[in-house]
Amino acid sequence: MTQEYEITIGLETHIQLNTVTKAFCGCKADSWNDAPNTNICPICSGQPGSLPAVNKAMVEKGLMLCLAMNSNVNLTSYFDRKNYMYADLPSGYQVTQDNRPIGVGGYLDFTMDDGREVRVHIHNLHMEEDAGKTKNEGDIRLIDMNRCGVPLIEMVTMPDLHSADEAATYLMRLRQLLRWIGVSEANMERAHLRCDANVSIAPKGSKTLGKKCEIKNINSIEAVRTAISFEIQRQIREVEAGRKIEQWTIEWDNDAQVLRKMRSKETAADYRYFREPNLMPVVISPEFYEDVKRRMPEMPWARRARFMSDFGLPAYDASILTADRETSEFFEAACRTYAGDHKRVSNWMMNEVLRVVNEKGVPLSELAIRPEDLAEIIKLVDAKTVNTSTGKSLVDKVLETGKKPAEIVKELGLGLVSDEGAIKEVCRKIVDANPKEVASYRGGKETLIGWFVGQVMKEMRGKADPEMAKAILTELLKG
Ligand SMILES: [Zn+2]
Repeated sequence: MTQEYEITIGLETHIQLNTVTKAFCGCKADSWNDAPNTNICPICSGQPGSLPAVNKAMVEKGLMLCLAMNSNVNLTSYFDRKNYMYADLPSGYQVTQDNRPIGVGGYLDFTMDDGREVRVHIHNLHMEEDAGKTKNEGDIRLIDMNRCGVPLIEMVTMPDLHSADEAATYLMRLRQLLRWIGVSEANMERAHLRCDANVSIAPKGSKTLGKKCEIKNINSIEAVRTAISFEIQRQIREVEAGRKIEQWTIEWDNDAQVLRKMRSKETAADYRYFREPNLMPVVISPEFYEDVKRRMPEMPWARRARFMSDFGLPAYDASILTADRETSEFFEAACRTYAGDHKRVSNWMMNEVLRVVNEKGVPLSELAIRPEDLAEIIKLVDAKTVNTSTGKSLVDKVLETGKKPAEIVKELGLGLVSDEGAIKEVCRKIVDANPKEVASYRGGKETLIGWFVGQVMKEMRGKADPEMAKAILTELLKG
């Protein structure tokens, strides 16, 4: 019998907050497109004697994340210095929060694809500044300090995850939440959301947890899945070969798709933390706390549940429509204007609007269609002003022209013809032109009615009201 293993994973995430300016100075926070070392000042480049000040927007976004993660908020928290020497850290210390961070505890609940509910507990959330970047060019090491002082939240989970799949799903849900509450762009390719994973295994039923290894530098959801799977397999191979797992720090090389050992981690580094003397304690007043709490949006899981209970949507629809806040708000607004069956709006939304979003790869807000337009198109189909396929093409035409659906129908003459005289004329023409089919219909082959309707639709380029055409044809074919 093969031995089964208990997998234990904890994730440490670094979240770049989307504030306008950096954590402790007035330099702009986003310097993605800037030339190296052009977006710095004496404060963020760690010059002696410079005086930092806390960016209120960082505290506000940190507080929002605490509230979304159900964390206990420390209304008074402190910044500390974490002392270490590295080329990308000009001051020789990182300003972070050590033993009194903004948020303690909390959790995130999510559902796996197989329907299993998972709750991941949070150890703490703390605010800190980012370091710069280093890059090797041949023998030369280059340093870019633009990223120094960019505000981050470091959020550490408890070891509550038990598979690579759960870790990837957690990160996906976290990314959704960060964008939903608007605290981070959470673009992993741009390192707005970075992840390190602690992985350990132990034989099932064993009381002692195996030694953990830390995987650094995992920067996509797919990489989280692959790197953790590889590390689990590596540890199982080691144990089954009779070797002990050593506590390693491992780097994920995404280009080569391999794990590389960086160093053995025998002892924890001593960073000699002490309170940052140049910054006041961070005090969140009860008024500020209540104000931020009041402005928090409805959470994605609550909206998903409401779409199911109040709108009668299946779980699948509710998940798709709450994948991001914009889509959920578009859907809800379209429902308000349409004021009919919500499932019908959901179908149009998923099949037509989200199809275009996927095809074009742009956010909904950049498309020329408004919720009222979608509602109007569905109403036009309901009223038989246009048929379903014309309705679908209207979605594309609104996107192309930015015009209102009814206007397009009028301009292009797309409306169904419900003029009885006009339809009758065409029906008569079709009956006269097809004596063979008429004879066999009259001889008892009544299913031919569909063929006759088809001929009329073809003649009228799909714009005849099919119900009316069918009634007229039935009458004519009686003989
Ligand atoms: Zn600066």
